[in-house]
Amino acid sequence: MIEPNAHIAALAPYTLADLTAPAGQRLISLAQNESALPPSPRALAAGRDALTAAGLYPDPDWTDLRRAIAAVHGIAGAQILCGAGSMELIACLLRCYAGPGRSVLSSQYGYGFFRTAALAAGAAYLAAPEQDFTVSIDALLAAVTPATRIVCLANPGNPTGTRIAGSELTRLRDRLDDDILLLIDEAYGEFTDAPGERSFDLVSRGNTVVLRSFSKAYGLAGLRAGWGLFPLAIAAETRKLLNPNNVSVVTQAAATAAMEDQDHMRAVCAETAERRDGFAEHLRQLGLRVPRSHTNFLLIRFASAQAAAGADRMLRDQGVLMRAMAGYGLPDCLRATIGSAADMEIAAGVLEKWLAKEGL
Ligand SMILES: *Cc1c(COP(=O)(O)O)cnc(C)c1O
Repeated sequence: MIEPNAHIAALAPYTLADLTAPAGQRLISLAQNESALPPSPRALAAGRDALTAAGLYPDPDWTDLRRAIAAVHGIAGAQILCGAGSMELIACLLRCYAGPGRSVLSSQYGYGFFRTAALAAGAAYLAAPEQDFTVSIDALLAAVTPATRIVCLANPGNPTGTRIAGSELTRLRDRLDDDILLLIDEAYGEFTDAPGERSFDLVSRGNTVVLRSFSKAYGLAGLRAGWGLFPLAIAAETRKLLNPNNVSVVTQAAATAAMEDQDHMRAVCAETAERRDGFAEHLRQLGLRVPRSHTNFLLIRFASAQAAAGADRMLRDQGVLMRAMAGYGLPDCLRATIGSAADMEIAAGVLEKWLAKEGL
C-alpha cells in the first residue's frame, strides 16, 4: 500500500471537541467557542437569497465581501484575502512560508492549529513559555533561532483568553528580523477592539499578517468565513495555495451582510462580555481561578488534573460539555464557551455541586 509523506504519517489528527452527551440529556455545548447569540438577521436573509445562485461558482475575488470589510475597518481591499474560515488562511500561509528546514514559533498555550499547520507544512514547531497564562514577548524573542521563519500569535489567546497590548506587539515586530513573518490571529479581535489599538497598522511594514474570523463574534462558524490583511506580495504568494473558489456563494452573501451590520455584532459582543464576566465572578466566588478573558470563553483552573477530570465527568453527566485542556498541557483546566444565560447558570450550578461533593 502506498505510504503518505513521512511528516504527514507522523502527524496526529487535529483533535476537535468530544460532543457526545449522555443518552436522553439535552446537550449544552460549551466546547467550541461558537457564538451563543444568533447572527445578524440580515446575514441570514442574504444567505437565503443567495441560494438562488447556488448553481454558479462563487466570486473568486470576494468583491462585495472585501469591499464591506475594507469600508468597516478603513483598510485597503486589495490587501484582503478571504478564506473558508481563517484556518484555511493559516494553513496556506504556513504552507507558503514554512517548510522543511524552517521553523514556526508560537507560545506555550498557542492555538493548537498553528502546530498542526506547521507540521503539515513539513516545518518544525517551537513554543516559548508564557507568564501567568499570557504571551511573553521577551520569551518569544529569546526563542527565535536562525531557522525561525514565522511567529504565530493569537491575540486574544485561545485557550487562555488573555491578551497582549498593541504596544507589546509593536515591540515584538520591532525586534524581529525583517525576514521573519509575524502572523497575528485575531479570531476574537472584535471582543477587544479599542480605539488606538490597531494591529492592522503593522501590516504596512511588509512582514505582518492579521487574520480575523466570522466564526466567533459574527456567529457564522457553520458557514466557514475568515479574512486577513496581508502585505500585497505575501497575499499574492498565499493566494496561489487557496482553493480558487474557496468561499461559497451563500457564505459570501451572508458574511457581507454580517459585516455591514456592525450594530448587531457590537451588541453580541457586549452581551457575551456581560455574561462572561458574571460567570467568571461566580466561579471565583466558588474558589476557582479564572484568568481575565477578552473573548467568548473562560479558562477555568482547578486544584489538580484529577479535580478537572472529576468536574468534567460530572458536567458531562448533566449534558454540559466543556473542552478538556490536556492536549494544551493544561490538564488541570477546562475551557468553557459562554452560552445562554440559562446554560451558564446550569454550568455554575453543577460546578458548585461538584465542589460541595468534594468538600472544596
Ligand atoms: C476559532 C479560532 C479560529 C478558527 O477560525 P475559523 O475562521 O472558524 O477557521 C482561528 N484562530 C483561533 C485562535 C480560534 O480560536
